[in-house]
Amino acid sequence: MSAPDLDISTVAIHGGRSLDSHASSILFPLYQTSTFVHDAVGVDKGFSYSRVSNPTVDALEKAIGALEGTPPAVCFRTGMAAVTTLFLSVLKAGDHAVLTDVVYGGTMRLFREVLDHLGITASFVDTSDPANVEAAIKPTTRIVFLETPGNPTLKLTDIAAVAEITRRHSILLGVDNTFLTPVLQNVLQLGADISLLSTTKYIDGHNATVGGSLATQDETLLERFRLIRKTIGTTQAPFEAWLTLQGMKTLPARLKLHCENAEAIAQWLENNPAVARVYFPGLASCPQKALAEKQQDAAGGMIAFELKAGYDATIRMLNSVQLCSRAESLGGLETLITHPASTTHADLGPELRHTLGITDGLVRLSIGLEAPQDIIRDLEQAFAAAGCDAEAKEVDHEAR
Ligand SMILES: *Cc1c(COP(=O)(O)O)cnc(C)c1O
Repeated sequence: MSAPDLDISTVAIHGGRSLDSHASSILFPLYQTSTFVHDAVGVDKGFSYSRVSNPTVDALEKAIGALEGTPPAVCFRTGMAAVTTLFLSVLKAGDHAVLTDVVYGGTMRLFREVLDHLGITASFVDTSDPANVEAAIKPTTRIVFLETPGNPTLKLTDIAAVAEITRRHSILLGVDNTFLTPVLQNVLQLGADISLLSTTKYIDGHNATVGGSLATQDETLLERFRLIRKTIGTTQAPFEAWLTLQGMKTLPARLKLHCENAEAIAQWLENNPAVARVYFPGLASCPQKALAEKQQDAAGGMIAFELKAGYDATIRMLNSVQLCSRAESLGGLETLITHPASTTHADLGPELRHTLGITDGLVRLSIGLEAPQDIIRDLEQAFAAAGCDAEAKEVDHEAR
């Protein structure tokens, strides 16, 4: 059977897989080796040196390609290695890129600290209005790079609408699809040229590895990514690839639960008097719900919410959780809680944070696979311990 006939849950387990020729083990073997012996000068079995390629990494690339509906993907040591390789592959001095203003912090830093020094410039715009993308395109623009949902307020960008613009200008469109994965949002079918994943998150799903991937239908681009990867040495390691191969088999099954649990927790938060606002594309109150329904198969497992209480009470609340883990990252089995204003977005300064909606009371949750009622009970006791309920009453009183 060909992949288009198979459901995505089947593709995650069987897509692009083959038994190894040596012993037909059901799990593809871990080739933990740096180098491969040539049968004769110029005669090899397709592998030479693990910075260039490795059978276990190759197996992961075929599996991710099957999930994306593309030729084998190109896998990297980290998500940032994928981001760096992408931009070094398609940009040169004098070129310009347009990116989502709420793009991953590391991607923004790459432009500000590295690519800028190489004469490559970028504009960070609010891509939730595609007109801003069109307005930011210059004669030197080579690529538009979106992140949707954006971090941490889950702001969405209409991928198909931006693809129409990039096609008209004959420039590339890349999308960081880490938050939803091809299981919930197929960015290539929506018109993007390149799909980027930090496999660290939902693809591995177990907080066991860091990694990244680039997928595209364009063979010339794939060749360019592989050339730059072997040159700068950003290749994924065999053991990480092997672990990721195991984790990704349960991706569709895990995502179903992540989404279901997030839905329940988002509903609870929305009805909680200590909470000013919930950002979750699955809620009827979400202003971008129609767009979410158009381009996503589900709302995803990420939630952001704003407490009415101020900075100190919000920090106290984070310090009072017992089941949720105070940790950056996302997409694993454990529910993680972060305070963007003091951690991931602390560098931005209060003004830019305010523009991006990252208030002192904003909290981000990566919903795990624990029973949602247990997470709700944990948040409930943390709200109470931090005095969030009492502070909310005061805020409400003053507002009246
Ligand atoms: C984590 C993340 C990255 C970077 O991936 P690493 O594996 O940490 O290098 C890029 N984009 C998004 C959206 C991420 O969440």
